[in-house]
Amino acid sequence: MSSKEYKGGGPEVPIEFGKLKLKAVDTKSAGLPAVWSAGVKVVENMTAGSAVKTLFKLNQKGGIDCPGCAWPDPDDDRSALGEYCENGVKAIAEEAMRRQIDAGFFRKHTVSQLAELTDYELGKLGRLAEPLVLHEGSDHYTSISWSEAFRLIARHLHELSSPDEAIFYTSGRTSNEAAFLYQLFVRAYGTNNLPDCSNMCHESSGKALSETLGIGKGSVTLKDMHEAEVIIIMGQNPGTNHPRMLSALEKCKRNGGKIISVNPLPEAGLINFTDPQSPLKILKGGTDLTDVFLQIKVNEDVALLKAWLCLLLKAEEQRPGEVFDWSFIKSHTKGIDSLIEHLKTQDAEALIAQTGIPKDQVLKAFDLILNHKKIIICWAMGLTQHKNAVDNIRELVNLLLLKGSIGKPGAGTCPVRGHSNVQGDRTMGIWEEPKPEFLDALKETFDFEPPRQHGFAVVDAIQAMYNGKGKVFFAMGGNFLSATPDTYFTAEAMRRCDLTIHVSTKLNRSHLVHGKTALILPCLGRTDIDIQNGQAQFVSVENSMGVVHSSQGQLKPPSRVLKSEVRIIAELAKQVLKDKINIDWEEMANNYDLIRSKIEQVIPGFDHYNERVRQPGGFYLPNSAREQSFDTIDQKALFTINELSDLDVGEDELVMMTIRSHDQYNTTIYGMDDRYRGILNERRVVLMNAQDIEKYQLAEKELVNVVSTYDGIRRVAEGFISLPYPIPQGSCAMYFPEANVLVPAKEFARKSKTPISKSVIVKIEKRK
Ligand code: SF4
Repeated sequence: MSSKEYKGGGPEVPIEFGKLKLKAVDTKSAGLPAVWSAGVKVVENMTAGSAVKTLFKLNQKGGIDCPGCAWPDPDDDRSALGEYCENGVKAIAEEAMRRQIDAGFFRKHTVSQLAELTDYELGKLGRLAEPLVLHEGSDHYTSISWSEAFRLIARHLHELSSPDEAIFYTSGRTSNEAAFLYQLFVRAYGTNNLPDCSNMCHESSGKALSETLGIGKGSVTLKDMHEAEVIIIMGQNPGTNHPRMLSALEKCKRNGGKIISVNPLPEAGLINFTDPQSPLKILKGGTDLTDVFLQIKVNEDVALLKAWLCLLLKAEEQRPGEVFDWSFIKSHTKGIDSLIEHLKTQDAEALIAQTGIPKDQVLKAFDLILNHKKIIICWAMGLTQHKNAVDNIRELVNLLLLKGSIGKPGAGTCPVRGHSNVQGDRTMGIWEEPKPEFLDALKETFDFEPPRQHGFAVVDAIQAMYNGKGKVFFAMGGNFLSATPDTYFTAEAMRRCDLTIHVSTKLNRSHLVHGKTALILPCLGRTDIDIQNGQAQFVSVENSMGVVHSSQGQLKPPSRVLKSEVRIIAELAKQVLKDKINIDWEEMANNYDLIRSKIEQVIPGFDHYNERVRQPGGFYLPNSAREQSFDTIDQKALFTINELSDLDVGEDELVMMTIRSHDQYNTTIYGMDDRYRGILNERRVVLMNAQDIEKYQLAEKELVNVVSTYDGIRRVAEGFISLPYPIPQGSCAMYFPEANVLVPAKEFARKSKTPISKSVIVKIEKRK
């Protein structure tokens, strides 16, 4: 057993402390503080003109799609005052900042110097203004022409002994048009190494839903959210990560709906929502949301769901035919008998105890489930980033199937996506495990034989780069190093590449931890006007509920040298593939309608794509589960038997979950204040239960090291302030990406390979 150790600090995760200030944990979300916080970012980064041009168009029909999360826009009227949330404004302000950094900036600043800055400070530097290269052995990025950059990439790709030595990563901001062209280029080049950020977030949802319901996407619409009788929110913090969802929850409440929230943390956005656009609601103190809050121990969701299933079975046995929706079960499902047999072996009392939630609370919530049929379950990373993540989601599907709460108004599944087009990218074919029928359609349409062997998911890509099997790493957007687990291991893996290439709008840590040679290709952002061949182009995206809609940039790009993602791929493909296959990349880059026509040919559900995407609000993609038609092996929705958490936590260990602060979006740090949790101006904190702080004999705000040990490797997150917080005993929470150093890349969810970022076993060590 090797006794390797990864310790904190260094260019991967510089250690820098803020001046910690604490305030009471909030029980209200949004309201005027949200307006103020968003306003500060606008003033800091934008001109008045660009603010007006973008914010009045943000999430409006025919306007700019928010580059934040993937919460849907209303089908009908949208708020003229502003169809966006605080974090939507921050996402725009981050991208539409006018500060720029060019080769001149990099002449003054070495990569080593820049790597000492925090992610927050890097994000403030400005938009990338021109293509940059970092030659082997140099510590300065220098200017490079686009054509030379494409030639350099082509040279490296051609020198590989196999296309499978190249890895093409995608972040969820990439538009449908760019994603489709990207996968086409990569497959024409000869590999399926197309890992994406979905591998690290909702891959577990996709796997579980495809297996049980025949489609890897949620089944509900926004209208269903408003009509639900009961909404159960599990492992999700909508107040920070999907803030406009709070408006939908408020509408549901107004319509008489009830909300059950299941979360280790009492998040303000689950408790109360104060609509900042309604002075009356502000005066009245907002709308209370959650009716039953279940403060669950980390990773005990299957125990809770299984307890409810047992109680449903007991009620059904007492009142046969009145609890289970037998007409739905008989006509649409398979596996009910084995589920019932399984539940009869379970002890509901023991399961409830395992959750750490008071029994009366579990029963209060159960009462709502028992007495209603229009039930929606919403979830996010709190369910998807565990070893048994796929079991978590299959078990919640069991509950909905027993109640017949699928494919009916006000009922169904709702995995909420955290990136504006992560669902669209997958629909476009950004997947390392493409379906044969998709590859057949590509072959049919473009007359080439695409590779059939499945490629690398994110965790495989990291291992491949580390083992020298991945030599060229290309990232379409994102911040791979900070988003991925096992930061030091991943950093080492990236450094072993011959070439790393990032298509980006702003500088981030992945540019500073790089391959032997590195390239930065600056692209247009979602807010920038995209002119091709003299014509303004628009792109399209798909939100969490399967609505495909357009997005049109409104601002003059910050630099004349920038290219759109589509243009970058087209020109690169021409350089790399030459005339290997007969595709007119230039023509498609000149007119995105041509890309959409090809998408229409290859991907079902995109008929008349160019007409329908121009309709105000766009169009819904087909969703079989929404129609109670289940495209599974047996054409039936499937009941399944699922595993409880098998975490083996020692007496002196805790289960750590990574969290986002309210002032960040994925790896982008907007600010240092986690306003709702009352933690201001500091990110190096570990939130612990007061009794655990006592158990570890820690002084107030004592600085500690947090340590995880997996496969003989000690991973040390050095220097975190221990803070008492209302979190269940035995659990603790830390911000990502700082805590990703503790998450082992070799430990991931069964079936989906999603990192276990929400249940890492750690020890708290006093610093010497
Ligand atoms: S809820 Fe999500 S998509 Fe909507 S404005 Fe906020 S961040 Fe953007």
